[in-house]
Amino acid sequence: MKKVLILEDEVNIRSFVVINLKRAGYDAIEAGTGMEALDKLRENPDIGVAILDIMLPDIDGFEVCRRIRATNKQIGIIMLTARTQEMDKVTGLMTGADDYVTKPFSPAELTARIDALYRRMGGDGGMSAELLTQGPFVMNTRNHTLEKNGARIRLTQVEYSILKLFMQNPGRALSREDILSAVWGREYEGELKIVDVNIRRLRIKIEDDTANPAYITTVWGFGYKWGV
Ligand code: CA
Repeated sequence: MKKVLILEDEVNIRSFVVINLKRAGYDAIEAGTGMEALDKLRENPDIGVAILDIMLPDIDGFEVCRRIRATNKQIGIIMLTARTQEMDKVTGLMTGADDYVTKPFSPAELTARIDALYRRMGGDGGMSAELLTQGPFVMNTRNHTLEKNGARIRLTQVEYSILKLFMQNPGRALSREDILSAVWGREYEGELKIVDVNIRRLRIKIEDDTANPAYITTVWGFGYKWGV
């Protein structure tokens, strides 16, 4: 059974997470303090994902994350953050973490994140997170996540693929055909309009002012260009 460590000092939240992990088919290992979590990880080297609360009675979740990462690059780490925590600080400190979930969270959201980490681990074996950082944006190509100024922006897989293409080609004008074949595949027979539809949605999610896009600019009669 896939093992997940849940480090959380608030018993109610921890029990809630444990119940839902079990329901999702995971073996849940519990810890109430940072030191206990590190002990449990030593005892259970097969733990695949660790969920770490930040505010703890002994060492904080960032320190736990750092200590885990010092010896273990493989494990997936999800931080539990509170809405009141400043996200700039959180994201700055969580360089070793793969993902974060903001409290209050739904069980479905948390298990989806764990499932995603497990999927990626079982995938190509490429465990190292690749971060594309440009302007206010940080894209994690392992988790397929995007942050703007430290705040998560939820993208569909297609939107993510388009943005990744842009971020890998900064300043370069990409034709709508380029985007279509890179994202939908060369064999895709649909219309170019699907590119524009997705760009429009992407702009709503990432631009400061959708009416005057600053990041994804239109190259008239050709396509689009990414710049930060
Ligand atoms: Ca706590």
